[in-house]
Amino acid sequence: MKNLWTPWRMEYILGDEEKYGGCIFEAASGKACDRDMLVLYRDSVAVVMLNRFPYANGHLLLAPSRHVADLEDLDQHEASELMEMLRTCTAILKKHLLPDGFNIGLNLGETAGAGLAEHLHFHIVPRWDGDHNFMATTAGIRTIPEHITRTFDRLLEDFQKITRTAAAYK
Ligand SMILES: [Zn+2]
Repeated sequence: MKNLWTPWRMEYILGDEEKYGGCIFEAASGKACDRDMLVLYRDSVAVVMLNRFPYANGHLLLAPSRHVADLEDLDQHEASELMEMLRTCTAILKKHLLPDGFNIGLNLGETAGAGLAEHLHFHIVPRWDGDHNFMATTAGIRTIPEHITRTFDRLLEDFQKITRTAAAYK
């Protein structure tokens, strides 16, 4: 059996998030990557970060760089770039974490469970055969085998290799 190791629950209890304030997808620094904020990638269209409160190791959040709430608020360019980044995210997670599958989804609106309903974001959650994610919903316990900053450093290497099309920088 894996050990139960959930350092993020402690951060949550301590209210560590409050010091960041505002919208997590538009951190004040605006940096292309930011280890403190767990931002792996940012350009003018898309931002990718590790979820500080993950359902599984490698749980990514992918959002448009623009603060928009609904899919229909995206223009065609943003929609296609986000889908392309979704492909890139799953490819990088496959390479580093060898998941057996993924849950990928959007929670649109607070009623649907969105933690930050005003800024659209995809959840990309790697899954492994026999993983214990069900515990997150049944017992409030998450089984995370690797510390989040270590995962960040592993994934960053590949996010820094991304060369987007010129159109992404319009
Ligand atoms: Zn926002």
